[in-house]
Amino acid sequence: MKISFVIPIYNEEKGFLKFYNSMLLPELKKLKYDYDVILVNDGSKDKSLEIIQDLAEKDNHIKVLAFSRNFGKEVALTAGINEADGDAIMTMDADGQQPPKLIHEFIQKWEEGGEIVIGVRGKYEKHGLIAKMGSKLFYWILGVMGVKDTVPGSTDFRLIDKCVAEEYRKLTEHGRITRGLMDWMGFKKVYIDYIYGNRLAGKPSYNFSKLFHLAIDSFISLSSTPLVIFGWIGGFITVASFILGLFVIIEEFILGDPMQLKWTGTTCLSIFISFLVGLVLVSQAITALYISHIHAETQARPLYIVDKKNSRNIKK
Ligand code: UDP
Ligand code: MG
Repeated sequence: MKISFVIPIYNEEKGFLKFYNSMLLPELKKLKYDYDVILVNDGSKDKSLEIIQDLAEKDNHIKVLAFSRNFGKEVALTAGINEADGDAIMTMDADGQQPPKLIHEFIQKWEEGGEIVIGVRGKYEKHGLIAKMGSKLFYWILGVMGVKDTVPGSTDFRLIDKCVAEEYRKLTEHGRITRGLMDWMGFKKVYIDYIYGNRLAGKPSYNFSKLFHLAIDSFISLSSTPLVIFGWIGGFITVASFILGLFVIIEEFILGDPMQLKWTGTTCLSIFISFLVGLVLVSQAITALYISHIHAETQARPLYIVDKKNSRNIKK
């Protein structure tokens, strides 16, 4: 049995050695399984690559996968998982914020039958108001959009069984959020609460704008609800202005304004225009639905995922 550790690295020259030698290595030595560590250098602009190459020279548990440029953490994680051949694969950050001490707990949950063991942050943490509200908003929108499988605070600090990794490798979409995809995949999930520590050194490379794009990516790749919302708004405007228009025609032109409302030409015109605007929104939403189908097709996700362990007498 073997555990593969996948660690994405981008500009971590200041803290990585400290993280590896004083935090990760002591825990790896306690493992009762064989292990390897796949370090994915995501186009670091500092000396990270040299540092990890050096480490790989001295320790053949370490593998280095170097990208030609920065492709982003999500892609780096995927590349590492593709490369890994352990019976379980554990992903974690290189900056010490996800405490390696906990790997034994993750492995234990896996031994007990968990197929995706997910580190959840937040329970024991105190956040700034803005961060808290941002993350609340994110999960609320995800919930509204019908994505119910994501537990608030779940992170990429996680362990997946090789059967999960095997299915994960079949997903081909480009705009991807690793944890979102894994949540979509199903399988038996177990959660472990942990405290997100401080960075050992260096700066986090996820700033507000990157996080914002990540959030937009999650919404778009996991749901087509944003497209539909405008359709509903359009539908509402059309129906409301149609009813109002009908009322004006009957009241003013057929009955001769018994209520003395004295509709002006401008009012009639604006009712007519809102009716048209509503129609445009509805037809846009219909186009959008087609696009969302095309979108789903181009993502080319597998139609279903088989749980091989629980299936019986199936050939393949
Ligand atoms: N990372 C990466 N590519 C990037 C940005 C970050 O591989 O483009 C790595 C980084 O080296 C670290 C992990 O992803 O190991 C998490 O990054 P960071 O600490 O910047 O994010 P945060 O702690 O804010 O989630
Ligand atoms: Mg970090």
